[in-house]
Amino acid sequence: IRSEAIKLEKMEVVSQLAASISHEIRNPLTVVKGFMQLMKAKDISAETKEQYMNIALEELNRACAIIDDYLTFAKPFPEKIQPLHVHHELEKVIDMLRPFANMQGVQIVPTLMPATMKGNAQYFRQCFLNIIKNGIEAIESSGAVYVAVHVDEKTVTIVVRDEGKGMTKEQIARYGEPYFSTKEKGTGLGAMVSIRIIEMMDGTWALESEKGRGTTMKVTFPLLLEK
Ligand code: ADP
Ligand code: MG
Repeated sequence: IRSEAIKLEKMEVVSQLAASISHEIRNPLTVVKGFMQLMKAKDISAETKEQYMNIALEELNRACAIIDDYLTFAKPFPEKIQPLHVHHELEKVIDMLRPFANMQGVQIVPTLMPATMKGNAQYFRQCFLNIIKNGIEAIESSGAVYVAVHVDEKTVTIVVRDEGKGMTKEQIARYGEPYFSTKEKGTGLGAMVSIRIIEMMDGTWALESEKGRGTTMKVTFPLLLEK
């Protein structure tokens, strides 16, 4: 499937993203608050208390997972839109994910080349963190995630390919839909965040996946051409 050229006003997309972040994190915290209040009651059994505690912990874990999907690179004041060095930013993301990949027995294989585009580096990193992390998580026993950069006259394309379990047609169609997740502890927000960021930066994307074979995500942005 491919991104449609939905041209929302840039600012609108950015503020929508900010609004969803606080909304998404407030939800689990509200549940925690409710259960903490219930736990203050004097007449509840140790068993019930234990149950409440477990629910609260699950919800706090969920809040952390949501923060990972949205705000891993967030700074108090977002950086300006400026020249962004694709290979450097991808290197940072890959370095950050290496310990996680090693833990899963997954190799990350980069083939990077220099390319400069326009955009916010912190959003760019979040976008590829989510995509590469999904690639790592898709690998069940062993395999690799390949991250390649291709440059042509006017565009740069980042290709993330994994040797993971792949997706069914139905799953492909739902890619990027909020809360769609096939993982036990998934948020179903990572792909949506990535797609919003790609569109915000005038990019396009294409997803190809085959059950049992793996998944390839191609993301293309306009190059920042030297004058
Ligand atoms: P989460 O990772 O929390 O489940 P995402 O929004 O990141 O949520 O991804 C949504 C769903 O899309 C995943 O649960 C998975 O089913 C599917 N998916 C995304 N990327 C891949 C991939 N590389 N390989 C297989 N399935 C994927
Ligand atoms: Mg994810």
